[in-house]
Amino acid sequence: MTTTPKPSHQIPDRDIYERRESGVRSYARAMPRQFGRAENVWMYDNQGGRYLDFLSGCSTLNYGHNHPIMKQALLDYIAGDGITHGLDLHTDAKQDFLTTFEDVILKPRGLDYRAMFTGPTGTNAVEAAIKLARKVTGREMVIAFTNGFHGMTLGALACTGNAAKRGGAGVPLSHVSHEPYDGYYGPDVDTADLLEQRLADPSSGLDAPAAILVETVQGEGGLNAASPEWLRKIAQIAKAHGALLIVDDIQAGCGRTGGFFSFEDMGFTPDIVTLAKSLSGMGLPFALTLFSPELDQWSPGEHNGTFRGNNHAFVTATAALRHFWSDDTFQADVRRRGELVEQRFDKLATEFGFEQRGRGMMRGLNVGSGELAATITGACFDQGLIIETSGAHDEVIKVLAPLVIDDAVLIAGLDILESNIRAAMATDYAVAAE
Ligand SMILES: *Cc1c(COP(=O)(O)O)cnc(C)c1O
Repeated sequence: MTTTPKPSHQIPDRDIYERRESGVRSYARAMPRQFGRAENVWMYDNQGGRYLDFLSGCSTLNYGHNHPIMKQALLDYIAGDGITHGLDLHTDAKQDFLTTFEDVILKPRGLDYRAMFTGPTGTNAVEAAIKLARKVTGREMVIAFTNGFHGMTLGALACTGNAAKRGGAGVPLSHVSHEPYDGYYGPDVDTADLLEQRLADPSSGLDAPAAILVETVQGEGGLNAASPEWLRKIAQIAKAHGALLIVDDIQAGCGRTGGFFSFEDMGFTPDIVTLAKSLSGMGLPFALTLFSPELDQWSPGEHNGTFRGNNHAFVTATAALRHFWSDDTFQADVRRRGELVEQRFDKLATEFGFEQRGRGMMRGLNVGSGELAATITGACFDQGLIIETSGAHDEVIKVLAPLVIDDAVLIAGLDILESNIRAAMATDYAVAAE
């Protein structure tokens, strides 16, 4: 009789992470389990624990984990020896993706964009966007916004607000001006008007910008959602001052706020759009920079990258576009689920004096302190709910549940969150609140 040795990953050796993995790891610290499997809205650890995923890879898993349709498409593609890596060569998978993207996303929305396959992470798409804007306009300065998050490479990091992230650069982060986002000075100050005033004043010290880079909902920066009026004004300001409008839709796009793009039906069209996170549909790395055809002034290879386009991601992205975006059913589901979260957050905000933020299925509850938020999310994790915080002081509890979640499961997850909010407020924070 032979005994099969236990696979090494089943033997608890947490020390390996302390011993070998860089201290830069972060999410693993708040959720110190070892995960082995995931399906739909659930993740499973190797000790038999099951977790409801309200983080979705920071909105990278909008369609849940290992969606059967995408999984099968990828399995078939690999089984048929489809191209895995092809630099930027024409491949069957790329053609399928581009034609599907044109048919299902661009044409029905009346959008005419060229698609640039950048390196496969979001920050690559942002780098390409700001590089292109600088090239086309011949200007250097980019306007970004307070609490904006755009990635970790130097160009994108310069556009990011967070001081701790910026501090990692080790060199000056320049040629970006961080202007106040919608609502930054409260509801009575229109920060778009302030920006217009500064750009119109030749003595304001603000140089003419190459681009205005904006998130419609700030995913990492606290779930602040800009109003359509404010965004329209920003679009007009960009146009009036010869700057290109870049919408960073890496987190808010791919259905998170309801439509495929977060700016749909708002009455303006960005010059450049960045997409990543949920674009591949299955959590595979894949990023795109979209821009108006007249901006396509790149010379061949001017912005390069070994992993431009990821053929496996083309396959799963195409399957996701066909399955979820060929009609309006999915969008209606997302809107309804978003309203469920909104109603619950409204109730909690009223009861406890919190503030609710966000749009669609991209929602936050500002509980006022990072400590309280961490207490609540930590307790949720102990009860099998993966949920994270966001904002300048990590004071906003964010709900980024998979968009495909059943209403009943969504409600069950919100129940866990609510009960832990009640528990936290009934103990340490009850005194502070009085
Ligand atoms: C996550 C994110 C990025 C960066 O994407 P990476 O894949 O982490 O490089 C850029 N912009 C926004 C809005 C994001 O949410």
